[in-house]
Amino acid sequence: MKKGDKAKAIGLADRVRAEGVHEVSGNSGPASSINAVVQCAVDSFVEKALSAFEGRLDGLATLQETASSAHHDLPTRAPTARPKPAHPPQELLVTISMAKADRKSPNRQRSPAELKAQIESSLGKMSTPALRDSKVHSVRKLANGNILVQANSDEQAKLLLLHGHEWVSHFEPNACVHRKSYTLVADYVPTSFDPSAAGAKTAVYHDNQGTIPSPAVIRDIRWLRPQKDASVKKAASSLIIVLDDEAAAEGLMHRSLSLVGTSCPVSLYTPPPLQCYKCQGFGHMAKACSRKDPADIKCARCAGSHATRDCECPNTPRCSNARTCTHIQVQCANCGGPHKSFANSCPVKARAIRMGTSHIHSPLNLSYASRAGSGARA
Ligand SMILES: [Zn+2]
Ligand SMILES: [Zn+2]
Ligand SMILES: [Zn+2]
Ligand SMILES: [Zn+2]
Repeated sequence: MKKGDKAKAIGLADRVRAEGVHEVSGNSGPASSINAVVQCAVDSFVEKALSAFEGRLDGLATLQETASSAHHDLPTRAPTARPKPAHPPQELLVTISMAKADRKSPNRQRSPAELKAQIESSLGKMSTPALRDSKVHSVRKLANGNILVQANSDEQAKLLLLHGHEWVSHFEPNACVHRKSYTLVADYVPTSFDPSAAGAKTAVYHDNQGTIPSPAVIRDIRWLRPQKDASVKKAASSLIIVLDDEAAAEGLMHRSLSLVGTSCPVSLYTPPPLQCYKCQGFGHMAKACSRKDPADIKCARCAGSHATRDCECPNTPRCSNARTCTHIQVQCANCGGPHKSFANSCPVKARAIRMGTSHIHSPLNLSYASRAGSGARA
């Protein structure tokens, strides 16, 4: 990762924190809960980026040491190479997100030793006997303000995650424990299924008991594209399923989702890449578009130098609705192909997805780059 990326990553996290995430689905519950999930995903991304960055700095320092001693071969030079810190196994680490904690919280000023004592005192108030009065291995403060707790055992780490709500509330109001989540998409799900119904999660669990261990691991289910107009309701559509359990996620992708008597293929959800509605390019939004020349404005429908909303039928008499007009020659502004510039079939869009221009917006921890592009969505 480049040096600038560190600042970029932090900037992005701050922006998401400040602006929040706009609700994308009518069925998905309050925007605040999505915010919390995305918040945690962004925080977790920034952490990984930061630790990768720090790892590289360590590597660079070692390389410089090696290079300079090889070149000058000075025997008097004291060995200054720092021993590489051993990285603890990921499964022992539990992250406390401080994003929503009070800006003036004393926990932000405390040293790792003081934080460790505070956390252990919070564990002392637990009702879970296995956690009550237990000690953690160590505590680290991250550059983004979050706190990394290293557990003494896999078992303790699991309990810390499972009972995160309880002990973190004793430690810091409004802080939360990161939980990994896996966002999947099931295609061709009959629309007779209602993901917003009270018993929807139980129904999914019931039909997939061999794969999903409990309804509790289903964090969210919703339509990928909510049907706004009930009169044009499709028979089948794509369903987003967010799971807390990696094995269940792998199992569903392997075995497909069983629902309403139908088998629905499941893949890892790849969020659409950022796409500019002015120039149709990927990786930025119109607000941040660097192309100022009016000739660079591209229509998403015909690739002409006009805004998509100004696209007109060339026929006489002219069709009043460009959306339903069959006279406009559909052409992609990015690849020249016979599709709209936001079509999933576009190879330029597929490349943008592979490059991961949107991955930091996704509450997702599996590597989906290799599985991108699962084909047409119903
Ligand atoms: Zn643009
Ligand atoms: Zn046009
Ligand atoms: Zn027309
Ligand atoms: Zn294209």
